[in-house]
Amino acid sequence: MDLNQQRKYLDAMGIQTWVRRNMPAQELVNEALEPAVTHAPAVPVTTPVTPPEEKPTGAGSTNIALPDWNLLRQQVSNCTACELHKTRTQPVFGVGDQNADWLIIGEAPGAEEDQQGEPFIGEAGQLLNAMLKAIGLERKQVYITNILKCHPGNNRHPRPEEIAQCASFLQSQIALIQPKIILAVGRIAAHSLLKTETPIGKLRGQVYQYGEHAIPLVVTYHPAYLKRAPHEKRKAWNDLKLAAKTYKESLSLSAK
Ligand code: SF4
Repeated sequence: MDLNQQRKYLDAMGIQTWVRRNMPAQELVNEALEPAVTHAPAVPVTTPVTPPEEKPTGAGSTNIALPDWNLLRQQVSNCTACELHKTRTQPVFGVGDQNADWLIIGEAPGAEEDQQGEPFIGEAGQLLNAMLKAIGLERKQVYITNILKCHPGNNRHPRPEEIAQCASFLQSQIALIQPKIILAVGRIAAHSLLKTETPIGKLRGQVYQYGEHAIPLVVTYHPAYLKRAPHEKRKAWNDLKLAAKTYKESLSLSAK
C-alpha cells in the first residue's frame, strides 16, 4: 500500500503519525507503523486454545453437519431460540465476502444494526472500516458478523445463555467461510471464542488457534470502545499488524 494512503488511514483511525523534519522516507514509515509502547511480542506467539468442542445448541443446529448459506440464513431469520427474538427488528446475519480469508467477529448488533440489518455500521462501523483499510483491506473483502445475531435491548451485553443458543450459527458460518484468520473484536467475542474470562488487555498481543482447523485468531478492542478510549487505538493498530503478519505467514506456509 502507498505510504501516504496508509498514513491517511491511520489518521482516520485517530492514530497520530509523527514526522521529524527531513526524515528519510523509510524511517518515516517505520516511525508511523511502529508502536510507541506495546506488550505485543515482535514474533507472534501461537497459543493453543480450547476449540469449541461442544455440540451446537442453537435452534439452527439441525443442519450443522452440512451447512448451506441459504438454509442457514433462513434458520437465523426464523430463530426463536432465545428471548431476543421478541424484541429484535430483524436478525443481523452478517455481511461481506462468503469466501473471505478474513473473518471479523464482534459482539452483537446495536440499535442501528438492528434497524438496518447489517453489522458494524454507524461510527463504530466507520472506525472498523478505517482499521481494515489501514492493513489494506476493503470492507467487502472480509466477512463481518457477530457472536449474537439479534440485538440485546438497551445495548446491554449478551447473556451466557443467549451466546450458547446462538453459537451454532456462528460455527456454521465459520465452517462455510473457512477463513484463514479470525479477528475477535471486543471482550465478548474474545471470551466467547476462546472460552476464557481473561481480561481482553491480557488476551491481545498473541495468536491463538481456533477450532479443529486451528484457524489463527487475534484479539483486539471493539471500535465502539476505541471511540470512547482513543488512547487505546495504537494498541488496536498493533493487533492489526499482528493479524496481518500472521495472515501473510499462513499464506506462505500454505504455499509451501
Ligand atoms: Fe436465535 Fe441467536 Fe437471535 Fe437468540 S440471538 S433468537 S439464538 S438468532
